Amino acid sequence: MIQITDHLAEIRERVANALERAGRPSNDAMIVAVSKQQSVEAIRAAAGAGLAHFGESYAQEAATKQDMLEDSGLTWHFVGKIQGNKTRVVAERFDWVHSLDRARIATRLDAQRGDERPALNVLIQVNVAGEPQKSGIPAAEVAEFAAFVDAQSRLALRGLMTVPPASSSDAERRELYGVVRDLGEQLRRSGLPVDTLSMGMSSDYELAIGCGSNCIRIGTALFGPRAPAMAAR
Ligand SMILES: *Cc1c(COP(=O)(O)O)cnc(C)c1O
Repeated sequence: MIQITDHLAEIRERVANALERAGRPSNDAMIVAVSKQQSVEAIRAAAGAGLAHFGESYAQEAATKQDMLEDSGLTWHFVGKIQGNKTRVVAERFDWVHSLDRARIATRLDAQRGDERPALNVLIQVNVAGEPQKSGIPAAEVAEFAAFVDAQSRLALRGLMTVPPASSSDAERRELYGVVRDLGEQLRRSGLPVDTLSMGMSSDYELAIGCGSNCIRIGTALFGPRAPAMAAR
């Protein structure tokens, strides 16, 4: 697990450099370690190296791992597609959701979030390139949906998330991330408490920070390749 420590040191250095180039403070980007299809031991190693935020994509896999890590005090981010029949796991076990894109799911998460927990932090996923197969809502619908989410008492709207097309060039990514950054700015100006842009993964986190991201989701650059998807989801 030496590897994770080394990988993290490199990521931190690159993040600090990207923030410096952007003229921002060195602590201005949250690193979410995306641990889907990674072992509990790998999560423990990453936590031991100083990471506190972990991202998972499959509710059942996440629940199993969370049970094994019960007392570790980690902050959990759900970054995957939210199935209608898995909202309870997400509402009860996570601190953040990055992938909210449907009113029905927002309503369910709001109803299922326990009163004893703080409101669930949510990011709206934007399908910024309008890809037909992809999760997320179109850019043109973000303002209306954001107002709906903000009205849910057990959800705390924190910002926006996006995943650019896998094949996009750096120039295309800059443009798409810029659109999402501007959408976030519009929400802020309309009075919504938006402070988070979740943009950037292993292959493009420095570019994303340059476009205003303050939350990067890093899987393989930290943990190495993922195991084949676990059967239980
Ligand atoms: C898997 C995943 C990541 C991490 O991807 P890497 O390329 O391994 O860093 C980030 N965001 C989302 C939404 C993911 O599903």
